[in-house]
Amino acid sequence: MSHKQYEKWILNDSPLSEEERKLLDAHLVVCENCRKLKKGWQNSLQLMQSSEQHKPAPGFTSRWQIKIQQEHRRKRIVRNRIILFSSVLFMLFASAAYIVLSGSLSAFLANLITISAQVILFITRGLSELTLFFNEIPSILRWSIGIFMMGVANMFIILLSYLIWKARRNHKEVQGAHIYAQD
Ligand SMILES: [Zn+2]
Repeated sequence: MSHKQYEKWILNDSPLSEEERKLLDAHLVVCENCRKLKKGWQNSLQLMQSSEQHKPAPGFTSRWQIKIQQEHRRKRIVRNRIILFSSVLFMLFASAAYIVLSGSLSAFLANLITISAQVILFITRGLSELTLFFNEIPSILRWSIGIFMMGVANMFIILLSYLIWKARRNHKEVQGAHIYAQD
């Protein structure tokens, strides 16, 4: 009997007859290749069966359900936010429409102008009072204070220029470092 026939029997799905099985067993004793083939084939069969029966890891269903619940919760939060945002937007537009239609926009503008005028008036009056106050100070002291204030103003301008110059230089250095890093 040829070696091929034994291989066929080993790999055959259908059961062998009594005589065939005996012949195969006898051959397996003497043929190492066929023994290896039989063992390998049986291992492959076991592997295929175990992978067919492969069940999802324990808790898979509950994990899946939790995932669905989380997704639902996330969607609900997004929906609530959309509703809230639309409500705010709607209220804004509604108030704007109400102001324009009811003519309270003109009242609102009038109030705004009145308040601004009052603020300007208050500042102006304050300034004129300040001028009056300064006018009562002797002129020599006024000049001294004026020169001193000019000096302070100059100091601030110099300080500001220095800070701007330094900031620009730092900015350039940072840019240079970036370019250097990119190279
Ligand atoms: Zn053989």
